[in-house]
Amino acid sequence: MSVAEIIDARTVEDHVMALASHGAFGETGVWRTVYSPEWSAAQDLVASWCAELGLEVSRDAVGNIWGRLEGTEGGPSIVAGSHVDSQTPGGRYDGALGVVAAVLAVQALKERYGPPRRTMEVVSLCEEESSRFRARFWGSRAIVGGIEPHEPDALFDDSGISIAEAMRSVGLDPARIPEAARADIDSFLELHIEQGPILEDAGLPVGLVRAITGLRHTSIELVGRSDHAGARPMASRLDPMAGAAEVISGAVGDALRMGPPAVTTIGKMAVEPNLTSTVPDRVTFTIDARHPDPEPLALLYRSHQTLISSVAERRGLEANTRILLDFPPCVCDPDLVRLLEAAAGELGIPAMRMHSGAGHDSQQMAARSKVGMVFVRSIGGRSHTPAEYTTADDAAKGIQVLATTMHELAY
Ligand SMILES: [Zn+2]
Repeated sequence: MSVAEIIDARTVEDHVMALASHGAFGETGVWRTVYSPEWSAAQDLVASWCAELGLEVSRDAVGNIWGRLEGTEGGPSIVAGSHVDSQTPGGRYDGALGVVAAVLAVQALKERYGPPRRTMEVVSLCEEESSRFRARFWGSRAIVGGIEPHEPDALFDDSGISIAEAMRSVGLDPARIPEAARADIDSFLELHIEQGPILEDAGLPVGLVRAITGLRHTSIELVGRSDHAGARPMASRLDPMAGAAEVISGAVGDALRMGPPAVTTIGKMAVEPNLTSTVPDRVTFTIDARHPDPEPLALLYRSHQTLISSVAERRGLEANTRILLDFPPCVCDPDLVRLLEAAAGELGIPAMRMHSGAGHDSQQMAARSKVGMVFVRSIGGRSHTPAEYTTADDAAKGIQVLATTMHELAY
């Protein structure tokens, strides 16, 4: 049997459902936060799959699970994987499908071709979603040596448990986090659901990611003056809400004028004192702006900033802006993108190049290795909800592309 025949929809479905049984939520959801009992059970299941395949299984200092198939020539590894932690609640596919994909790809290659020339590894990463500790890519950051020494005692979940405490509860020692760092990964390949509607709109099962979006979160505070809503004439108001409305519609307009894939979102706002008959004195809101290419991204940020300054000045408002989060775009390795594309072509699987509008572990892994990503179609473009769904058929096609590419790299 060929690798594509070994990776069939039925096998994919069985593995996805087996993982989904740990932390199952409602009919189709999953609630599986890092270091919870259900998360540990899911990681144990991945470890047992790897062991059954005859891989050398290990758990690193932050709890990432690794399955290693030694190459006859050794050298830096070809790694595939993703994460099994979820949103609260999330669906069965975000992250989990990428871990299943890595296991099934290595299984098919081992079965069909035997030991590889170069070492192949499966990895199941932890706390990608930041749904428990807001620890942003905890597992992949540990691998690239990107966790600061103060972080384990400075990150807390909603019930006040530190990530250091949570690690100890599953037998991990936070002091050993630096030991999770790896400098011997050649390429990291991640299969993931698209989480948006682009593949569905194009009528394609598979996407090959050329870049992961850059993004910036900015907090904007506009300060004016509280006044009586009836007695104060319009002309002499210092109204931060009117200013915020202008900034918000203008910023959304900036992204619309620039066109896809630029996106700008205002998702959070606070008004003080938040009363019906009072002009507010303070309005605070956030802007999330994204683009996968550095130049238009910088232009988008600049146009938002210019807008804020000019609105504040014209309206006599004080404007205080603070950058909360800033991720540069991550360009996938062009050779890996070409290999993935060639694999899809060879298998007769229709695919397109695209960008990722969501963040992924790959962008962290890119600090120390080449990265490539395979997307598979999300039905209705839905994700971060129990309603997210990818057909087993589409998933199998994506995994076949992944396995064919790994064959090219490792054999
Ligand atoms: Zn994910």
